[in-house]
Amino acid sequence: MKNLLKDFNEKDLKIFNQEFNNFLPKKIMDFHVHLWKKDFLNKEISEERQKSNPFTDQDIIDGFVFKDFKTISNTLFPDKEYSGLFFGLPVKEVDLDKANKYISDVCIENNCYGLYIPEPDLNEIPENFFKNRFVGFKPYPDLVDFETPADFSKLDIDVSMFDFISKKVLEFSNEYGLILLIHIPRKGRLSNKRNIEELRKIGEKYKNIKIILAHAGRSYCYEDIWSGIQYIKDMKNLYVDTAMINNFSVNKLLMEELGPERILYGSDLAVAALKGKNIDINNKHYFVTNTPKYWSLSSSEMNLDDFTFFIYEIIRAIKIATQSLNLIREDIEGIFNSNAEKLIESIIENKMYQLKNGKNL
Ligand SMILES: [Zn+2]
Repeated sequence: MKNLLKDFNEKDLKIFNQEFNNFLPKKIMDFHVHLWKKDFLNKEISEERQKSNPFTDQDIIDGFVFKDFKTISNTLFPDKEYSGLFFGLPVKEVDLDKANKYISDVCIENNCYGLYIPEPDLNEIPENFFKNRFVGFKPYPDLVDFETPADFSKLDIDVSMFDFISKKVLEFSNEYGLILLIHIPRKGRLSNKRNIEELRKIGEKYKNIKIILAHAGRSYCYEDIWSGIQYIKDMKNLYVDTAMINNFSVNKLLMEELGPERILYGSDLAVAALKGKNIDINNKHYFVTNTPKYWSLSSSEMNLDDFTFFIYEIIRAIKIATQSLNLIREDIEGIFNSNAEKLIESIIENKMYQLKNGKNL
């Protein structure tokens, strides 16, 4: 890892102490953490792609291992017990076998759990899936071969969810009631009718799957979600994570429409350890960072020393939403820890899981 904490200073610590220390529960479960090593990349990442995605940025791509996660969480959340649900870096240049093996090694060694990143057409569940401490899958649309426009700002990953979530993954997840953390495709996000149809289809056909929308369906702007949420809020077993959502009105809507018990705090580390904020201009999402990046708005002329970490902005946006709705302590504790804990416990306590844990699955 490049030293992501080089910008950490007393002002950040003050934010933690004044705004978050009393607000956050002692135990925090981060439902969205990527871990990887640089040598898992088996192809060069094109310059275009490096410029287009925070995860392929020079400050991030070098890797983020479990030790880095501990260093960051201990520094940014002093005296909290900060744990995570882990998975690899889902970019097409990554060797997925190595990525998944590393997650499994980390989870076995540290008594935690992970999600398996499947190939889009996975048709055989890897051996020892449960013994390797996987509790579900993190399929990713970027792994499908699709036409890439020369101009990345026009990128619309116009693939179906069924192009990157195989039938085998759906059936196996349904059989054992596993987590399916979906990064939804298509530019329209939850405003896209096909996305809604496909989510409903998965929910109806595979009732035991715990469907979690990563980044609440990539809803960084209120415009992304206010309409679409109406078509999915009745789905049983639908949850959202808060990874990289910095907008309190999105969180407030989620809390009102889904209820706090279906919201899982997630950060999207390592990117969330950069300093910046996701903002909403004219109903479109932009990253803003303290240092200029190809993929963000910034300024080399202005002094942006007062920025703090994306991860703090995520928590701040949750805090303001909980305050505006007068949520009680138990709800807040649920969002940051026990909702996730209950989901994972329900999987590992599942009799079938225990049964198969002794066998070769
Ligand atoms: Zn992510």
